[in-house]
Amino acid sequence: MGLLLFLFLPALIFDCFAGLFGRYLAGRLVGHVCPLSLVATLPVGGTCKAELMPSSTPGPARTFNGLTLMAVHAHPDDEVIGTGGVFARYSEEGVRTVLVVCTNGEQGDGPGGLKPGEPGHDAAAVAATRLAELGKSVSYLGVSDVELLGYRDSGMAGWSANADPGVFWNVPLAEPAERVAALMRQYRPQVVVTYDENGNYGHPDHIQAHRVAVAAAEATGIPVKFY
Ligand SMILES: [Zn+2]
Repeated sequence: MGLLLFLFLPALIFDCFAGLFGRYLAGRLVGHVCPLSLVATLPVGGTCKAELMPSSTPGPARTFNGLTLMAVHAHPDDEVIGTGGVFARYSEEGVRTVLVVCTNGEQGDGPGGLKPGEPGHDAAAVAATRLAELGKSVSYLGVSDVELLGYRDSGMAGWSANADPGVFWNVPLAEPAERVAALMRQYRPQVVVTYDENGNYGHPDHIQAHRVAVAAAEATGIPVKFY
């Protein structure tokens, strides 16, 4: 319970002040985070980097303090639900913050709470919406780099989508693990954060993200601390 409070309370508090704080962060960090429009239009497996920002974007060059934090998440929205407070705090302290998102979140609810499989649920539209929300989220949180791996959402545990050979849960571990390992070699994070071995609550994509992050950390030996 204490751990849950530690993880979620900062995010909830942050959420309450996201609008105000986000504008404050955006004012300080604009030009160095993924803008909404860029994340929304990224190709699958795309990368958002400061170098891709429009040259006309205002804002001072961002200076990092030499430390790097990487979070490996399963879906767009997990970055704020699971690590919103962490990203906001360490970004504010000058830590380079790298977000890896493994899937596009196609199995999320549609407008009005429409569930996957229900008439009118548009997986591509849901993914686009969630990626657009991700763009806004990372601008609020001050995340400096976003890496979208572009795998397909596997749905909640027990859903028929779990059996689809193309979803993240069924991708052989070595492939995404090597991609994340390459990102660890690129960014060289001292700290990596992901879910526990049960994906915090059993979601197949969260479990897979945990396994991918662990495999990448073990292969590279780069993170000093792994949560
Ligand atoms: Zn998730």
